[in-house]
Amino acid sequence: MDRQQVLVIGPILPYVIAKLGERFDVVELHKEADRAGFLEREGKRFKAVACGLKGIDRETIAALPDLEIISSFGVGYDAVDVAAAAQAGVVVTNTPGVLDEEVANTALALMLMTVRELNRAENHLRAGRWAKDGPYPLTAGSLGGSVLGILGLGRIGKAIARRAEACGMKIHYHGRHEQAGVAYRYHASLTELARASDVLMAVVPGGAATHHMIDRQVLEALGPNGYLINIGRGTVVDETALIEALSKGAIRGAGLDVFENEPAVPESLVVLENTVLLPHVGSASVATRQAMGQLVVDNIVAWTDTRRAMTPVPETPQP
Ligand code: NDP
Repeated sequence: MDRQQVLVIGPILPYVIAKLGERFDVVELHKEADRAGFLEREGKRFKAVACGLKGIDRETIAALPDLEIISSFGVGYDAVDVAAAAQAGVVVTNTPGVLDEEVANTALALMLMTVRELNRAENHLRAGRWAKDGPYPLTAGSLGGSVLGILGLGRIGKAIARRAEACGMKIHYHGRHEQAGVAYRYHASLTELARASDVLMAVVPGGAATHHMIDRQVLEALGPNGYLINIGRGTVVDETALIEALSKGAIRGAGLDVFENEPAVPESLVVLENTVLLPHVGSASVATRQAMGQLVVDNIVAWTDTRRAMTPVPETPQP
């Protein structure tokens, strides 16, 4: 029997290619010299797509008339045109759950580095200033007893909240809904959450609904003693407003794992000492990325064998 074909779109973890190859014939679109020509000639061959963090657009979905499933790597799928997939009757899956603890650990580290200025303290030592100039100055910020405001108390947000509680922080949150059975204090307005918070942690998805939710007004509400941590998506924060707020002391510091136009990070942000900047490494350990890759493969296998995907996104419910 002919093996089913899977189209891989965009660079993806080599583990995914290897695992898919055990069961399917795999074609990597980004390795084709003439992608549009390839899709026009061969698009009908593919019922399944695996895509990396760059996602898949409407035109490519339209060029795959027999497509049934898009298995996307990562829990955030803002780069996948889910509206086009839904219109075409294509199920989209993501990789939720398997990365929660890793991303929450990264978020906690980023928050500690930012509030306790650990990167600057380390630089002080490395530059020989401890012996020459004396100890690193006391930090104005401290986690114990302060309020962590979480924008997006979902799977990862809750894993961050558990860790922050262990650090002695009080948890408040904002989302579109107040959650039943959650003891943390809910704020119906993001600005009110920012006003109540010492540290504001963004862990919402990207996309149009959350675009620039954290703007000048929210940063001003966070205030001159406040810190912003963004582990969600860069588009959630108005980066220009953030740079201005950091430069003029409207907030005290920021820890960012995600940026508006990755991998480009504005020089005006890089030069600011009151920032900790990470190159989108929230889930980036071998074990966690492999677990995500396995779920990409398992979704395609489950769909092929049973026509039930394991982790479909809400916008494309299964038939
Ligand atoms: P969940 O779907 O479990 O949680 C998302 C939360 O965001 C929910 O609590 C939801 O609450 C809230 N939310 C969604 N839309 C809005 C909105 N328009 N306004 C206010 N709140 C909103 O997702 P995860 O916790 O699994 O992941 C969250 C995001 O983290 C991902 O989408 C991804 O973008 C990012 N991420 C970043 C990583 C990194 O490496 N830095 C790694 C992994 C994920 P409600 O429904 O009540 O609004």
